[in-house]
Parts: sequence; C-alpha cells; structure tokens
Amino acid sequence: DAIVKLQNVNKVYKGVTKGTKALKDCSLEVKPSSFTSIIGKSGCGKSTLLNAIGGLIEVDSGSICVKGTELTTMTRGERAAFRRNHIGFIFQFFNLLQELTVLENLMIPFDLNQQRVDKEFMDGVLQYLELQDVLKKFPYELSGGEQQRVSIARAIIRKPSIILADEPTGNLDRKNAKQVVSLLRECQRLYSQTIIMVTHDMDLAKKADTMQYMEDGQVMSYETT
Ligand code: ADP
Ligand code: ADP
Repeated sequence: DAIVKLQNVNKVYKGVTKGTKALKDCSLEVKPSSFTSIIGKSGCGKSTLLNAIGGLIEVDSGSICVKGTELTTMTRGERAAFRRNHIGFIFQFFNLLQELTVLENLMIPFDLNQQRVDKEFMDGVLQYLELQDVLKKFPYELSGGEQQRVSIARAIIRKPSIILADEPTGNLDRKNAKQVVSLLRECQRLYSQTIIMVTHDMDLAKKADTMQYMEDGQVMSYETT
C-alpha cells in the first residue's frame, strides 16, 4: 500500500576520474497522503533520491515503484509524462521565471501539459497561500517567502498526488522556513497529497509525520510520531 517504494536502488554519477556512488542499495517506503521528511548531511544522496523518485534521473539498478508503476523500465519520455501527471516539484531556488508574472508562472505547467485549470480549486489555494494580491507582480518584486509560496502554489494547483520538495526552506529565513513547512503540512491535510521533503534542518524535519534519516547513499532508519 506504499505510494512510493524503492528497493535496492543504486546510482553512480560517472565522473571524469572516478564515479560517485550517490545511492547504495537504497530502499524506502512512503505511505499515501503522508508527510515524510528525509534528513541527512550535504552530499549523502538526498537530492539524488528525490530526483530518482521524480523520474528526473535514471538509476543503475533496483526498483522504483511510484503509484504502482515501475519507473526503471520506462523511457525518458515516459518518465516525463508520468511526472507531469502525478508529481509536483518544489526547489530551493524557487525556479520561477523572472520575466513572467506570478500568474503566468502558475500557468506554465498547464500550458505544457494542456491540462485544464480547476479555477475554484486554484482560487482556494491562492487564498490559502495569501497570493491573490501578487498575481500581476513579477518574482523579483516578491520576498523569498512569497516566491516560495508561489512555487508551492504552482506545484499544488495541478493536483499532483505526490509533491517532492528539495530543501524548500534552504533559501529562507527562520520565520519563512517555518511557515513554508506549516503550509506544506496543511496542503497535505487539505488536499491529501503525499509530500516528501528533503532537508538538513532537524527542527523542520521533525514537523513531518515520518522522518527518514539518510547517510552515505542509504536510508538508515525512521521514526514515526
Ligand atoms: P545531497 O542532496 O544529500 O546533498 P546529492 O544527491 O546532491 O546529495 O549528492 C550525492 C553525491 O553525488 C555527492 O557526492 C554529490 O557531489 C554527487 N553528485 C550529485 N549530483 C551529481 C552529478 N550530477 N554529477 C556528479 N556527481 C553528483
Ligand atoms: P544540494 O546539496 O542542495 O542538493 P548540490 O549543490 O549538491 O545541491 O547540487 C546542485 C546541483 O548540482 C544538482 O543538480 C546536482 O545534481 C549537481 N551536482 C552536485 N554535485 C555535483 C558534482 N560533483 N558534479 C556535477 N554536478 C553536481
């Protein structure tokens, strides 16, 4: 009944001199509609794990099963289609296009995907994230916290069942970092999305239902609260 299940996943980045083993027989299970945090030191493989779950990278061996679908046997194009239909990404540096307004940024995934916007749902999310008044502004006119709320809105309004957040608070001050984590938590409650958040911040990681600890390419242990 896991929505995300990895079994013995290995990933080596082939470098110029020697390869970096980023995932070593890495296994993980995530329950549907849960909020999981993955914590670990810089370089332990957190981003690689998240990118593997999101189908952004190919792995060398093992199984990655997301919503009952095996990703490792898909082509790059199939993974991209799967990602568009089921997964939303939130990044540390927001990944907003500076030359587009907030509203235009929110519409990017819909334009790419030819998906219809659920206006009512979108209005609810914008209200909840307090973004209605900044829709015509450009990202550079917003604070970091506001920009991250825009990128959260962009991920949520497509209603993906899984949201992958890579250090979503890494570029925010304490107050905004806490708010972003509370918002993610609330989105998971309101919209039943499954959220996996990577962080190296223990205080924030503890706010998740389940905390997974990563070390040297492996998920070591977990605790449930
Ligand atoms: P974390 O997110 O925990 O900081 P990463 O998954 O980014 O860890 O990186 C794991 C290891 O793989 C690190 O040693 C990193 O330098 C290396 N690595 C990550 N991405 C690449 C890449 N594209 N090419 C080569 N090495 C990489
Ligand atoms: P984080 O640790 O916050 O996940 P990094 O600074 O490790 O981010 O990596 C940022 C980007 O650079 C990622 O896309 C990652 O894949 C890439 N990267 C990380 N380490 C290396 C490396 N040694 N060689 C090439 N690319 C890398």
